[in-house]
Amino acid sequence: MIDTHTHIYENTFAADLDDVIDRARAAGVSRMILPSCNMSDAPLVAATCAAHPDSCFALYGLHPTEMGDDPMSEAEQLMDFAQSHQPFLGIGEIGLDLHWDKSRQAEQVQVLTWQLTYAYEHSLPVSIHCREAVWLLMETLSRMGDKVPRGSLHCYAGSAQEAKTICSKWPQLMFGFGGSSTYKNSKVAHIATLIPADRILTETDAPYLTPVPFRGQRNEPSYIPLVVARLAEELNMPAEELAQITTQNAMRLFFNKES
Ligand SMILES: [Zn+2]
Repeated sequence: MIDTHTHIYENTFAADLDDVIDRARAAGVSRMILPSCNMSDAPLVAATCAAHPDSCFALYGLHPTEMGDDPMSEAEQLMDFAQSHQPFLGIGEIGLDLHWDKSRQAEQVQVLTWQLTYAYEHSLPVSIHCREAVWLLMETLSRMGDKVPRGSLHCYAGSAQEAKTICSKWPQLMFGFGGSSTYKNSKVAHIATLIPADRILTETDAPYLTPVPFRGQRNEPSYIPLVVARLAEELNMPAEELAQITTQNAMRLFFNKES
């Protein structure tokens, strides 16, 4: 299995990262994809991936809630950092977030569009964060015409109708599901039934969004099987089969491999 979005380079893992990675591998999670959020965590992503080259893989991007005074030049710096810290898989975490701050909407769109265009021009996949802004994301993607890169909508939290629209308009986009799909009364797992199985990805977003029964504690990649089990139940499919399909999806999207 693959954790397609995890922040195990953060401080909360500093003391036991080797154990976290060992536990993940023992649980069958062989690869972890680490997105940066800004220029200050990019070196942490690079160092973690360099120390664990078989398990950890880097994405670089500017997160919408991490924009400083001059986000366009920070986004450019991040792409330069990525190019000089090979190998990296793609661009992330990028996106739109209107939950905390609506005042910089136009700037968020500008920075996202620039990073998506960069990814498209370099044939790189993206990991997209989108909170309370799926309508705006769709508007932004529509404006890009046929230059939308392939990628993942990480921790998809839009509506069922929006998922269906995205599915039909942008076949290059997949959907990431994590701990929130295990929460009681959550509609997230049901959304997975509306999406073709070959476009479903698993992720933790660790240390956040810890799945049941560990909710309230630190999340980590070894919990991916809990997400797979919950989605498999909803999809009425054996967990092993879904594990295999989602792994193949992640290999195709992020590693350019049909396996
Ligand atoms: Zn994240």
